[in-house]
Amino acid sequence: MNAIILSLTKIRETDAIVDLLTDADRIVHAYARNYRTSKKFPNGLELFSVYDVSLTSADNGHVWLNGAYSEQPFSKLVADVTSYACASALLETVNVAYAEDAPMPNLFRTMLQAFAAMEAAPDLSPLVHAWLEARIVYIQQLLPDIRFCAGCGKPLVRSSHFQQEQGFLCEACAHGDENVMEQVFPGIRRLVSTPLQTVLGAALKADAAEARQALLHSIARLLGCCLRDFSTRRTLKAHAFMGETVYSDASFLEVVGG
Ligand SMILES: [Zn+2]
Repeated sequence: MNAIILSLTKIRETDAIVDLLTDADRIVHAYARNYRTSKKFPNGLELFSVYDVSLTSADNGHVWLNGAYSEQPFSKLVADVTSYACASALLETVNVAYAEDAPMPNLFRTMLQAFAAMEAAPDLSPLVHAWLEARIVYIQQLLPDIRFCAGCGKPLVRSSHFQQEQGFLCEACAHGDENVMEQVFPGIRRLVSTPLQTVLGAALKADAAEARQALLHSIARLLGCCLRDFSTRRTLKAHAFMGETVYSDASFLEVVGG
């Protein structure tokens, strides 16, 4: 079985609890013993690598990771801070948001597609991140309704206001300062309904890198907000790092609870 590591928590210098996303689109929490020295882990356990893993379940429900061989490392991801930050945020998104009872078809394959795209074009990593995160957040139903006003129920034609507790409000119902750019809703709808290659192709043709970056910034903030509300940890470290390095925005930390 193939899997990628979503997170690894060291226990006593030698062992670790590893959260894995398997090629069957399941998340498995497994215990790895002596992963740094054992011959059964010849490449160690690193993020951004596809492993051939061997898992066994004990009677008490615990899962053991008995060995892992690296099949396909995405080693270029760690060489660029933008792609590294965006790829890390995606791992965090899956770990926080993915629910077994509402599986996302082909999530594993889609993650590999996203990693490959980030390796090929590190500058477009924020777009790849937004593309996949929007899908995950949308499919896991963490995004408030982006079609109708949470106040009056009318269609959101040009909403510019977002309130976490209630969802989105139309201009007539909104009060206080605007906090979502008006292009954010159509932007998210487009990301969710368009294949990655089409989104990337359009970005490569268009000469509007700054405008794209501003829109992606707003989208990432909004998605981060929805994820943070859902996270039991109430703080998204990888997203905070992405806010700092990709968007150079300290207020991103407030949104994601850094
Ligand atoms: Zn309204």
